[in-house]
Amino acid sequence: MSSTPSVLLNTGLPMPLLGLGTYKLVGHEEVYGAVDAALVAGYRAFDSAAVYRNEAELGRALKELLPKHGLTREDVFITSKLGPKDQGEKAMEGALHSLSQLDLGYIDLYLIHWPGTQGLGVTDQRNPGNRAQSWATLEELHAQGKLKAIGVSNYTPAHMRELMQSCKVPPALLQVEFHPKLCQTELRKVCKEYGVCFQAYSSLGKGELLTDPVVLEVAKNCDRTPGQVLLRWAVQQDVPVLPKSSNPDRIQDNARLFDFTLSDADMDRLSALDCGQNYCWDSSEVA
Ligand code: NAP
Repeated sequence: MSSTPSVLLNTGLPMPLLGLGTYKLVGHEEVYGAVDAALVAGYRAFDSAAVYRNEAELGRALKELLPKHGLTREDVFITSKLGPKDQGEKAMEGALHSLSQLDLGYIDLYLIHWPGTQGLGVTDQRNPGNRAQSWATLEELHAQGKLKAIGVSNYTPAHMRELMQSCKVPPALLQVEFHPKLCQTELRKVCKEYGVCFQAYSSLGKGELLTDPVVLEVAKNCDRTPGQVLLRWAVQQDVPVLPKSSNPDRIQDNARLFDFTLSDADMDRLSALDCGQNYCWDSSEVA
């Protein structure tokens, strides 16, 4: 299968609309098997993070598998994230650790994983200073070419506005939870206003949305799987997705998004499920 379509980031570089989520993929065997299946299915992007503790396994799997699939480092797009424990003065150490764990020369996109700092209360007034320091560190590594693009994750509209007022390099991307039950209307508006790519995580609601009655009905009507419907709903709005699976068949199934279209009526039915439901964490309280 050929690789999937891309979006253009504000750095001028393209990023695939489909990436493999790797949260909870652990150990060489599991990571290797998932990356192998994903490359066959056309995935060219992989989403890791320091806190997933699989950066080293992902880097090793890619180094072993790219030649097998006739691909090079430049053919894949790797995202990783600075852990909340390294927010602030430890940011340089944390980012350099990610670079050395992945050992792929550079990271395509590096995100601040969370607006808060591990060990500080959510309302602690040191949080804003720490994330500003982390951002300045990411800007430095971006200038050195070690991080091709930099961005943030789990930021609220207020965190985004604060960053836009102080940054030298604007964020290329915001990664947040996004699915029909959490449409993130305000955040999407803010991203559009600032030219920041809006990327979805937990598009399948961590698997729970796959049995939602409306999703099942839309899937039945268009003869697709519930996973494809949920992912198509996002990419049809130009929102990049990162479905996670450790199962080769499901990895393949989740990649079949670009050969069908959901009708306007089905898109609207799905969007009408919006009720502000988080399946992951909620960062709205972080100062
Ligand atoms: P998700 O992709 O919404 O759902 C993953 C779950 O659905 C897994 O349990 C998987 O099980 C199952 N699944 C996947 N495809 C399926 C299919 N076709 N049929 C049936 N079950 C299926 O959840 P997620 O892992 O939370 O989010 C995806 C990725 O986004 C993460 O891996 C991570 O890379 C990123 N993420 C980022 C943040 C952040 O804070 N920035 C937070 C959460 C997630 P199997 O593995 O058994 O198939």
